[in-house]
Amino acid sequence: MEDSDTHDRLVVDSITDDDLLFVDDDHFSADSVAIVTGAGSGIGQATALALAANGLTVAATDVDEDGLAETVDEAERLDTDGSVETVVADLTVDDDVERIVGRATDFGTVRYLANVAGLQHIDAIEEFPMNQYDLMHDVMLRAPVYLSKLVVREIRDTDDGVGAVGNMASVHGHYVTADKVGYNVSKFGIRGLTQSVAAEGGDGLRAFSVSTGYVKTPLVTDQIPDTAEQRGISVDEVIDDVMLGQSRVKEMMDPADVANLFVFGFSTHGDHLNGGDLLFDGGMTLTYE
Ligand code: NAD
Repeated sequence: MEDSDTHDRLVVDSITDDDLLFVDDDHFSADSVAIVTGAGSGIGQATALALAANGLTVAATDVDEDGLAETVDEAERLDTDGSVETVVADLTVDDDVERIVGRATDFGTVRYLANVAGLQHIDAIEEFPMNQYDLMHDVMLRAPVYLSKLVVREIRDTDDGVGAVGNMASVHGHYVTADKVGYNVSKFGIRGLTQSVAAEGGDGLRAFSVSTGYVKTPLVTDQIPDTAEQRGISVDEVIDDVMLGQSRVKEMMDPADVANLFVFGFSTHGDHLNGGDLLFDGGMTLTYE
């Protein structure tokens, strides 16, 4: 059996400056704090690094302490202009959610929130465990709502009211696949949160979502060799036919490609992006063969 270390299409190279979008923005400085959830792995880790590379102070939070330590090591390796501060917290616990924002205010002026943390569970709707549904709801919807509530207050308290909430949605916030009801509902819901913040913003305060197809993160790459074995097909066939069958672009995205969308969305170049979704899915949801 091939594993993610042996198949070159599943390997994620370490992020370098060449992978990252750099934006000249008056608010991208050490005084400005960006809270990033899920920052111990995959897309959240890359987003924390990209924002720190752009000079922001990042309040990187995750339940995974080792993952956060790796994010700090990666920031040191990249020699980012901004620092990565860590807050170990469980997004299912309200006290932890409040502590994340409290700690972030110690680091500087909180202007940006990237809601990235997430998890997957696969089961038919009639079998879907409600405790698993509740967990997904708490991490992927309730915590983003609560964090937005607290961060919007911080943004309104800044001298100029400039700031943004960026939410990680998915193609599953546009269309759905079977056996993922918890995920599908959360991703449609987070687009509702995005538009709700946008409706109350506009005067400096903005919100946007990011929707991608498959991204090379442990959440995805770890299961591909098993899927190949279960179905009796090759890793390439899983990638090309099962995952990217409806996509016109036949390679998965790297985490840094997604992180750059948060950099752009938070920047002044996103001033007219309010409630909108950055759909970078390689044509997956909008084309049909
Ligand atoms: P990942 O598993 O690499 O990272 C998810 C992180 O969320 C982990 O570090 C995990 O510890 C954290 N997390 C989970 N439960 C938590 C909790 N209770 N409290 C705090 N942190 C918690 O996954 P990823 O692929 O980087 O996914 C990040 C986001 O991107 C998710 O919202 C996912 O739905 C979304 N997404 C991923 C893909 C993809 O193909 N990988 C595609 C579209 C959208």
